[in-house]
Amino acid sequence: MKPLTITFFAAILFTSCGSKQVEIASSPTSPPPQSIELISTNTDGDSKPKLVLGITVDQMRYDYITRYWDDYSDSGFKRLLGEGFNFKDTHYPYAPTFTGPGHASIYTGTTPSYHGIIGNNWYSRSKGREMYCAEDQDVLGVGYFGPGSQMSPKNLKSSTIGDQLKLASNFRSKVIGISLKDRGAILPAGKAADAAYWYIGADLGHWSSSNYYMDELPQWVRNYNQSNKAEDMLASTWDLLHPESTYDESAEDNNPFEAPFSGSLTPTFPYVMADLAEKNGYFDVLRSTPFGNSLVAQLAEEAILNEALGKDEFTDLLAISFSSPDFIGHQFGPHSREAQDIYLRLDLTIAKLLNFLDETVGKNQYLVFLTADHGAAHAPSFLKANKMGADYWNSAQMLYQIEKRLSEEFGTGSYIESYSNDQFYLNNALLSRKQIDRNEVNEIIIEEALAVEGVAKVIPTNVFINGNFQDPILKNLQMGCSQKLSGDLVLILEPGWITYGPRGTTHGSAYPYDTHVPFVLFGSGVSHGTSSERTEIIDIAPTVCSLLGIQMPNACIGRNLETTMQQ
Ligand code: ZN
Ligand code: ZN
Ligand code: ZN
Repeated sequence: MKPLTITFFAAILFTSCGSKQVEIASSPTSPPPQSIELISTNTDGDSKPKLVLGITVDQMRYDYITRYWDDYSDSGFKRLLGEGFNFKDTHYPYAPTFTGPGHASIYTGTTPSYHGIIGNNWYSRSKGREMYCAEDQDVLGVGYFGPGSQMSPKNLKSSTIGDQLKLASNFRSKVIGISLKDRGAILPAGKAADAAYWYIGADLGHWSSSNYYMDELPQWVRNYNQSNKAEDMLASTWDLLHPESTYDESAEDNNPFEAPFSGSLTPTFPYVMADLAEKNGYFDVLRSTPFGNSLVAQLAEEAILNEALGKDEFTDLLAISFSSPDFIGHQFGPHSREAQDIYLRLDLTIAKLLNFLDETVGKNQYLVFLTADHGAAHAPSFLKANKMGADYWNSAQMLYQIEKRLSEEFGTGSYIESYSNDQFYLNNALLSRKQIDRNEVNEIIIEEALAVEGVAKVIPTNVFINGNFQDPILKNLQMGCSQKLSGDLVLILEPGWITYGPRGTTHGSAYPYDTHVPFVLFGSGVSHGTSSERTEIIDIAPTVCSLLGIQMPNACIGRNLETTMQQ
């Protein structure tokens, strides 16, 4: 192997808002880069992937692989598992299991306690309000300027796989994130990314970005926006892919556990987009159908072609996230034909994408990993109807009772500043002014909350600072807590209970239905195999970085699973 020579010909400067990279050549006669071998082979002399495609399926429970297995094609999930390596028991090692923290953890190899994305939203003591995980008032939208357009990875505290690729290649690797959801594109791509693109529905049906990355959308994105692809989808119908009788893994189409679209009487096929559009946010209705996945896959292919991803010796990263399964899961639940159908169709979308990569990048020239940002609970109404106990929960009555009791004990006041992600943020100013012992307040909150049906535990978060927990549920809460950002006490519901409406379902807990997700590695450097060893979502980043021969992200606490793959 040739000695590694790294020519530092560029200095990277960041502007005050950290939004732009400016490369300044040290001299106009700088020699051409001589570091090609830096990442073209690893230390074993194996050639490295030219492209990493990270696929996150929003809300994909692990059992969607096994339950629908017989109905999948040969070239989607079956190809990934048949040629790649399937980690059958991969879990989120923290709670709350939501989209923002999930996407951040996959790509940073660490948990909310370090990367700081402790929820999709959380109460900010310094701002005195709920904040959003990808909000950034210092930036502006690109391609869309309406409400919610000011987004960036500002709140992410640790580096990602993409950031490490940038460092390893002296910023010659390209890193792009694509998702219907802004957080599903921004957090995986990381801080030094070239771009993140997300979908604006409403009356637009367009892809947008942020001036954190660019001043205007590249021509190929504008071309996509000007094409009639989204319009064509809005003129289409979502019907079952296969004959109705083959959906025998799911409940009847018309059942009381599913929520119909607004303006519809029943949650039943076929779903005619033109009939649903007006009452379901026009182009936003596509999110809750397989058309949403098509939008993402189409833009991903355009990105690969137009940004020449996987075309040179510097490994590129394309992080895509399919959000539609999450919208459909929330609305119809895991036991619905709608859920089954979106996975059968996603299987075909993935098959097409793999084919596309074979043709554009070349077989075995690219590395794919597929995972999910969390799972989902079965709809409690469905479980109840089948004699399995679980129910719906609402914090309002409990919070009223707690405030009443605290006022009786310590005098009238508002003692809980906020209740966010099942965490109590105490009113610190009031407690100090009245010189109230926090332990006494905690005891009252615990006593009152535990008296409410559905509450399993209430734990003061200061026990997480030094605690060493054997119980994986408690450990999950610990790893989801940031000492700086999280609340003072955290509440855990009984297994199966959710805070949600009477139809559909959600996720967010520390229990296995929310933590157990797929993790499949496929392609360059990956041999075929399976493992039922318990692994964690934070193991993905160090394993992928090891396969690429680059340093893992800067707060990574996961394990490199290459040894598991070689056993
Ligand atoms: Zn999600
Ligand atoms: Zn249905
Ligand atoms: Zn969700």
